[in-house]
Amino acid sequence: MSAPKRAVVIGGEMVAHGVRRVRLRMLEPDRMGHRAGQYIVLHARSGDGTVVKRAYSLASAPGEDPEFSLCVRRIPERPASGFVHSVATGTEVTFSGSWGKFVVDDRERNLVLVCTGTGMSPIGAILEDEIVRPGTRRIHLLWGLRQESDIHGAHRLEALAAAHPRFSYTIALSRATDAWPGFRGRVTDLLAAEAGLDRLFYLAGNGAMIADAEEILAAAGIPAEAVRKEVFFTPGQVRVPLGERQARQANRQRAGTVVAGVALHAGTPAEDVRAALTAALTAADLSLSAVRNLAAGAKASDELGLRAAAEALGLPVEFYLPAEVEQAPDPTGNKSTCEAVALLSAGRTHLIQTKRKTPAVTVALAAVEGGSPVAK
Ligand SMILES: Cc1cc2nc3c(=O)[nH]c(=O)nc-3n(C[C@H](O)[C@H](O)[C@H](O)COP(=O)(O)OP(=O)(O)OC[C@H]3O[C@@H](n4cnc5c(N)ncnc54)[C@H](O)[C@@H]3O)c2cc1C
Repeated sequence: MSAPKRAVVIGGEMVAHGVRRVRLRMLEPDRMGHRAGQYIVLHARSGDGTVVKRAYSLASAPGEDPEFSLCVRRIPERPASGFVHSVATGTEVTFSGSWGKFVVDDRERNLVLVCTGTGMSPIGAILEDEIVRPGTRRIHLLWGLRQESDIHGAHRLEALAAAHPRFSYTIALSRATDAWPGFRGRVTDLLAAEAGLDRLFYLAGNGAMIADAEEILAAAGIPAEAVRKEVFFTPGQVRVPLGERQARQANRQRAGTVVAGVALHAGTPAEDVRAALTAALTAADLSLSAVRNLAAGAKASDELGLRAAAEALGLPVEFYLPAEVEQAPDPTGNKSTCEAVALLSAGRTHLIQTKRKTPAVTVALAAVEGGSPVAK
């Protein structure tokens, strides 16, 4: 293994709420020699003296080598970001790198740069590197943050946009104050409009944003080859795919006061699903027209019998991930999938019909939140 590289901290400042930019100069070797978009693995010293190794994107273009910057969000009580936030000017640090393939190889296609939070580090480096190259390709940047106090370097973006007509940018704030004159929402809300086959997409930051963006771009016909990504972290919560989230949202607008949760054995034919559903509704003195939608576990999403029955009845099916089912209310103590998915979809904690079994299908019914089921 090669010896760690060494650099010295030459300055640091808070540039936004919770974000510190630290400036360093190479000591050994005397140049970084990186490409825009790459990262280093910093050997950070935590409070108890142990060394933790964390990846940090280089927040400066190769043109600034042998100096470079890191731009780091402080995660409260966590070691590496805490180290970067407290490291003093004159301190020597060690690291390995530069590493990574989040670099621009293609010199032709237009660039769409998409980031959240400190995902701006590699994106800003790519932008600064690209903008000084001769060429006419367009660069559009979408930057997602929570609120105004999270924005850093806006004056630089403004200056670049004023000086280079081929560069434009939009900042999207998800929790802007009333005074914010710009776009409110998520960067992914803007992405479909940017999807074009003449473009390369660079996505950096929060893993949930990147997964949503990939789905949006794939749905718009953008080949995976045109999408590059740098995932900084993946939030701990369960991530439901964007398409499923949108389908669930659309179902909330449908008529109907009841959700039918369905679980079935593999290969169950459509007739058996219909029969089980009809039996459960009859037992609850409800008609089919009361059903807003069906719900099932994600495992059932490739069951053709379920899909065919739903289609014949004109009912959409929502599919819930195992981790969602795990967290669902369990009023009967059965840990039953059909009951859990009915409650999740209906937004309720109690059932109007606990699970009814036929040999291959179980069905449970939950009243939709805000609605009351009407007996037939
Ligand atoms: C290729 C790459 C480049 C990266 N570049 C940067 C960068 O330029 N700037 C930067 O601030 N971070 C960057 N990170 C994240 C960084 O590596 C660390 O994960 C982060 O600083 C937390 O380290 P820690 O030791 O303080 O906390 P840890 O104990 O490692 O992490 C604590 C928790 O915080 C979560 N987390 C990590 N980053 C964030 C974040 N930004 N917002 C919210 N939660 C987070 C983690 O998922 C984890 O659950 C990058 C990560 C990768 C993989």
